Amino acid sequence: MIKAFAAFEPGGELRPFEYEPGPLKPHEVEIDVRYCGICHSDLSVINNDWNNSIYPMVPGHEVIGTIANKGENVKSLEIGQTVGLGWHAGYCNECACCKSGDQNLCSSSTASIIGHYGGFAEKVRADDNSVVPIPGGMDLESTGPLFCGGITVFNPLVQFDVKPTDNVAVIGIGGLGHMALMFLNAWGCDVTAFTSSESKKKEALGMGAHHTLDSRNSEEIIKASGHFDMIISTVNVKLDWNLYMNTLKPKGRLHFVGATLDPLDIGVFSLIVGQHSISGSPVGSPANIAKMLDFAKLHNIRPVIEKFKMEDVNKAIARLKSGQAHYRIVLCR
Ligand code: NAP
Ligand code: ZN
Repeated sequence: MIKAFAAFEPGGELRPFEYEPGPLKPHEVEIDVRYCGICHSDLSVINNDWNNSIYPMVPGHEVIGTIANKGENVKSLEIGQTVGLGWHAGYCNECACCKSGDQNLCSSSTASIIGHYGGFAEKVRADDNSVVPIPGGMDLESTGPLFCGGITVFNPLVQFDVKPTDNVAVIGIGGLGHMALMFLNAWGCDVTAFTSSESKKKEALGMGAHHTLDSRNSEEIIKASGHFDMIISTVNVKLDWNLYMNTLKPKGRLHFVGATLDPLDIGVFSLIVGQHSISGSPVGSPANIAKMLDFAKLHNIRPVIEKFKMEDVNKAIARLKSGQAHYRIVLCR
């Protein structure tokens, strides 16, 4: 039996839960969980905000741990190896996306916390090719958040060929946003943090931003008109997107990684005239996760974390809900 913490109904407190995982499949590994970050997506799935949650639901998709057991066909990972697991615990491995290295776009992938038990547990299972080894010398406590939040903001830099000469803005300096500032600064960009929290402005400058603006102050946003090559939105709320579109340079891009539920309401004329793009992306492929880890190690990028004991998971979730977390909460076993 595997001991875990599960939500049993939408928005419910997490309670101890044990499940029988059955025999290990030939391509699966079983990971002894050491650390697990808490992402806003864990909250959204606990709450069934996306109408696809399955209960009992074990959250946790920023896992760091060691391989405790492996199936007979697992060749690339060794028992005892330190690894991480993110949003995906498996891919179909047969579709065009999987075959071309875009596994994160596989429509038959398994999300680690939907119809699969995640990392708020003593152990978690996953297919071998969704698990990525941690380069030696990395700080393990703070590496879990890179596996969902980190890759989600690193991936667009790779996908859209962001250049060191680009002006890039990040909206929302929470878990994802603070890691975006670190990656963009190391990438060489001129970095602007849009935050709704006055108190975060100074810290944002310390985490890689060169400038800060108030994400809800239209006068400040208007002043940045025509300035950005790219804006990455990490918020899950509706903002005045037309104001933000106006801050793009010609050919600029407004890129969504935050799961804003309200539909976008954007004037087409500014899109046409400025040849602007609007896009979104989910996490990143295992190859890009490995690339991100090497980049993070080289540039000493460490998410800023608050630690909680795994058994205090409900306190940790309350803290994330309060909006006060600086900047990512990590559960420790
Ligand atoms: P988080 O730590 O809660 O950060 C969200 C940030 O949004 C907050 O820190 C806050 O930043 C800003 N915000 C919140 N409410 C706001 C409001 N009313 N007005 C303006 N700004 C507000 O969440 P997270 O873990 O970074 O996740 C962010 C989003 O990304 C979630 O929707 C999550 O589901 C999604 N996500 C997507 C992917 C993907 O693959 N695309 C992966 C992971 C997560 P300030 O205090 O600076 O304003
Ligand atoms: Zn996540």
